[in-house]
Amino acid sequence: MSDRALLPGTQVIAKADHTKPKAGELAFHKGDLLNIVSACEDKGWYRAHHHASGKEGLLSASIVRERPPIKVDPRISLMPWFHGAISGLQAVQQLHPPEDGLFLVRESIRHPGDYVLCVSHGGEVTHYRVCYQEGKLSIHEEQSFSNLKDMIEYYTTHQGVLCTKLLKPKPKHGAKSAEQELAKAGWLLSFQRLTLGGKIGQGEFGDVLQGEYIGRPVAVKNIKCDVTAQNFLAETATMTKLQHKNLVPLLGVVLHNGLYLVMELMSKGNLGNYLRSRGRSAISYQQLLHFSLDVVQGMEYLEGKRLVHRDLAARNILVSESGEAKVSDFGLSKAQLQPEDLSRLPVKWTAPEALRHNKFSSRSDVWSFGVLLWEVYSYGRAPYPKMSVKEVVEGVQRGYRMEPPEKCPPAVCSLMRSCWEAEPGKRPPFKKLRGKLEKELAGE
Ligand code: ADP
Repeated sequence: MSDRALLPGTQVIAKADHTKPKAGELAFHKGDLLNIVSACEDKGWYRAHHHASGKEGLLSASIVRERPPIKVDPRISLMPWFHGAISGLQAVQQLHPPEDGLFLVRESIRHPGDYVLCVSHGGEVTHYRVCYQEGKLSIHEEQSFSNLKDMIEYYTTHQGVLCTKLLKPKPKHGAKSAEQELAKAGWLLSFQRLTLGGKIGQGEFGDVLQGEYIGRPVAVKNIKCDVTAQNFLAETATMTKLQHKNLVPLLGVVLHNGLYLVMELMSKGNLGNYLRSRGRSAISYQQLLHFSLDVVQGMEYLEGKRLVHRDLAARNILVSESGEAKVSDFGLSKAQLQPEDLSRLPVKWTAPEALRHNKFSSRSDVWSFGVLLWEVYSYGRAPYPKMSVKEVVEGVQRGYRMEPPEKCPPAVCSLMRSCWEAEPGKRPPFKKLRGKLEKELAGE
């Protein structure tokens, strides 16, 4: 491991077995996942949480490595056994030499819309037609599934009407198994160790649930649909590359029922709700400044990585148990919005050039940050009150800008305005915004 200090929250993987620990030390096996809790006084030693046992104890940094990010690779597939439209004969060739339980899925050529599950057993290949009817897939009327992945998962553990349980997927040429790639890099978590609790939020692709992963509080997003889950995989890969104290950490991924993204639980919810529910009497300007500075630091990190958020708003800032604000939803599901998706844009937060010409950049994020500052200093009010989306688009284009919220400190007002320069190049980068907010904090 390099000399670089490990930050609390960093996930690391054991490089070797450590089965005879001294008093206070953690025991673990090679490949186990551990989470750094805090640094110790002794250089190179940390308190850490062991995922598999749920225990906490000491470990030396020399015996662990940081998890490598997942490679962004279109060949990484949640369904490597899916071969698309190949013929029955080609399927038989693919399943050669024979091996009991070796299987693949292909699209049915004779019955478009249906699939065929091809399974090798006793030296023969059996082809099972998978009928698609009313949104459900089934081989036998008694058992139906909402997607192929669920079906394969089922027949891996149940023989049902098949000649054998599915034992070994035959990957399509060039496809890499997402499961193997995630496991190799230490990002695959186990469904059995995940306990799901109540709903804490509504995401675009489904509910956000509270949960526990081996005793650790987590927030979980489940993406059920095959295609969306596959798209998410690429975006998840981006998330695994990003680690900063002001970004909501992705702890890992569970492959079950589509995809579960397991994130650190930000117990105080999103910043908008946080400010609205507590209000002026409970939250000082000093705290507002801290939140703003937290956000700007997360954004400065993304800016440095040339990543554009596109949906920066108080609802996407989450507050941790200790009151730190972290940017969430980065890298997710908006890599390239198609022109027809423009209606999905958060118009009141989006810079004019992004709305009009689809020109998103860190400087369009800066515009959104200005709107976020407005939300923060108005204690969570919705921006452009009483104006329709259409009025905002037309007004902003003509040069209309919101008045800063009541009693907003002058330095913050001028920062907000600078974020709303019509010319993107005239808006300050996040690096500069951070400097200004730090000065403001020091001056108080
Ligand atoms: P999506 O991007 O799919 O629309 P979000 O990430 O915006 O979903 O999540 C929706 C809501 O769920 C958030 O506004 C927040 O209230 C809650 N939420 C999301 N992630 C977490 C988390 N890690 N901890 C606590 N609450 C969360």
